[in-house]
This record gives sequence, C-alpha cells and structure tokens, in this order.
Amino acid sequence: MRRLTVLGATGSIGVSTLDVVARHPDRFEIVALSGHRQIDRLAEQCIAFAPRIAVVADADAAVVLRERLAGLVPTEVMHGVEALEMVAALPEVDTVMAAIVGAAGLRPALAAARAGKRILLANKESLVMSGDLFMREVSAHGATLLPIDSEHNAVFQCMPAKGREGVRRILLTASGGPFRRTPIADLANVTPEQACAHPNWDMGRKISVDSATMMNKGLEVIEARWLFDTPADRIDVVIHPQSIVHSMVEYVDGSVLAQMGNPDMRTPIAHALAWPERIESGVGVLDLAAAADLVFERPDLDRFPCLKLAFDALRAGAGTPAVLNAANEVAVAAFLEHRLGFRAIADVIAATLDTLPDQPSSTLDEVFAADAAAREVARRQIGARA
Ligand code: NAD
Ligand code: MG
Repeated sequence: MRRLTVLGATGSIGVSTLDVVARHPDRFEIVALSGHRQIDRLAEQCIAFAPRIAVVADADAAVVLRERLAGLVPTEVMHGVEALEMVAALPEVDTVMAAIVGAAGLRPALAAARAGKRILLANKESLVMSGDLFMREVSAHGATLLPIDSEHNAVFQCMPAKGREGVRRILLTASGGPFRRTPIADLANVTPEQACAHPNWDMGRKISVDSATMMNKGLEVIEARWLFDTPADRIDVVIHPQSIVHSMVEYVDGSVLAQMGNPDMRTPIAHALAWPERIESGVGVLDLAAAADLVFERPDLDRFPCLKLAFDALRAGAGTPAVLNAANEVAVAAFLEHRLGFRAIADVIAATLDTLPDQPSSTLDEVFAADAAAREVARRQIGARA
C-alpha cells in the first residue's frame, strides 16, 4: 500500500491524480491533501478520500473547511506553508505528489526531498528555480524523483534503465499551443480566454498561458537539464501539434525512442504512481489510424521569444532561471488580469533579466532573494507600461 500526500489536490494535476488513485483503492491511500483557496473542491475530496490532514492557505480558509467537514470526516485542517512542508514529510507518507503551481511549490517539494520521499514532480518551477540545490537534496536524502510533466515522463520512459550510456540528445515535443498559426501581428491583442483554450490539453490557467507563449517549453528545457543531468546543447525542442509523441531520446546509433499516448495526464501520473509497475489509468487506447498525420516542425523563435529567453537563462546559469521564472509568473498573472498584453509578457521577462544579471543561487535564501527581486522589477516594468 502506498500512502500519499497530494499537494495541489484541487488543481488540474491534483484532480487527475485522485482520479487514478480512486481506481486502485487496494494500492493507494490518501494521508493528506492540500487545496489553498479552493475550499469547495477540497471539501468534496476530503469527504471522498477521508485524509488524516487537509491544508489550506490561511486561518480563514481553515475555518470554512472545518465547518464543511464537521460531522462528516475526522480530517484535521491546517494552514500555511509550514503545514504544507509538514504533510510533505510525514513519517507515514511514502509518496508525495508535488502539484502546486509556481514558486509556491518549491518549499513543500524540497521538504519531501529532505524527508527522502518518492516525489512525483509536476511542479516544474521548483527545478527551474533551484535545480542544482534541489537535485543535491534529492540525492543526499535518498529521495526518488519521478517526473509527471508528460515530456519528462516520456523521456524517463525512453532513457536507459541505468546511466546515460549512448544517449545523444533529448528531444522535447511541444504542441505550439493555440497561437501556432496566428499571424504574429495579431498576437498583441489575444485574450486570456483564447490563450487558455489549449488545442490538446486541459490544464490550469498559468501553464496554459505558458504553453501559448512556449515559456512552458522553456521551463521544461531547464527542468530536463536537471532531471536528466543533460546540458542545454543536448536538449532540442520540436513542435508536434498533435501531442501524441510526448518526447523522445536520441541515441548515438541513430535510434530515436519515443513515448506515445493520448494527451491525458493520467498516463504519466499512473506511470509514476505505480513505477516500476504499470496500472490502469482510465486513459483510452491510442488509435493511431484515427490520429492520422503526425507532424513535426522547428519552433519559430520570433513567434516564441520566451523559448529563447529560457535557453539563454539556462546557459547563464546560477540564479538567472529563478529570475526568469519569477518574472514570468508576475507577467502571466498580469496578462490573466488584463493588465498586460500577450506579446508584452516576453518583453517584461527580457527587461527583468537585463536588470538582474548574475543573481547567486547556492542557498535557498539566495534563490528566494532572486525570486523576490525579479518580482519587484517585473511589477515595476508592468506599472511603467500601464
Ligand atoms: P492548477 O492551477 O490547476 O492547480 C494548482 C494547485 O496549486 C491548486 O490545488 C491550488 O489550490 C494550489 N495552489 C495555488 N497557489 C498556491 C499557493 N500559493 N500555495 C499553495 N498552493 C497553491 O495547476 P495545474 O495545471 O494542476 O499545474 C500544477 C503544476 O503542475 C504546475 O507547476 C504545472 O506547471 C505542472 N504541470 C501541469 C500540467 C497539466 O496538465 N495541468 C502538466 C505538466 C505540468
Ligand atoms: Mg509538459
């Protein structure tokens, strides 16, 4: 029996995780759930899974959740970042799904690493912010890191069981998002609703915008660098609009191994939940004949400047990816609130990177200092444009 904490249970990944878990009551038990401010959904999940602990954003949210659960389930309701860290490190928990969105996911994911857990990592931002530090904690404490991001889960499945012998390149696929064919001149005026209407994947709003700018792929290149200990010049991005091939590994003998499947996050989630075994995920069979043409093309960096910014940040190293990530979070939030145009997201990030070169990132304090400085600069940039 695997005992789980699901961080970010109320989000897109969290809901898919609980869907897979519910199919295997003999294998998985939910010990703790977190849901920040989505109290209605978290209450439903607590009633369905009766976790020992539920964690919300603050004391007010905790009062509301306690009222909802009174007399129904004996779940203890806690709040705040320390509670998130605590449930990520509970002795009776062996597996932690890290599915909080953004920089907020770093501390709890790190707590799971330090407690030597099996970490199912959806929160790519934590590796982008502090990849070096995070990977050192994982190995120092004997934690197991399994990628949930569909691309990295695909790469993991295509890698040799041990080592990197014979691997030449990692090929990350990208759908190109909803604006792959939109005239570049029209991109300035696209709305959050258009940006969040992804052609293949149903995801949270932040990652949906990241997919539309392709910053998501940029963050994933950085994530891949750390997960697979592979330098930037051995990671390539290829646009594949059908999202059937989830990524590939190229070997020195010319072999290219791909992992395929319908675009449904329950496949990588089930893979990581059961690894090294395989379990049913609820995902329908892939009908390749119905999928018809599988298309691959090179990304256009004029259309997707965020992808280049991310590669540059990875090459710059140290705290630059943390600056990139924080500026992106602030810019995407402003775009979602109609305070910033779509094309200006990349401009704000570029200006923030120019203002804050060479940030150190050897300690967690330095990482959060770089994150805070970048948020401040990005906010000023957005203010100056308003
Ligand atoms: P989402 O917005 O749907 O859900 C986010 C979750 O985090 C929710 O449970 C929310 O309550 C919680 N949360 C939000 N802010 C928080 C905060 N400040 N503190 C604590 N909890 C907070 O996001 P999602 O699409 O499920 O994505 C989650 C993570 O998984 C992201 O890092 C994303 O990049 C990654 N990811 C998602 C997908 C996908 O298909 N959705 C695919 C690959 C990777
Ligand atoms: Mg992905």
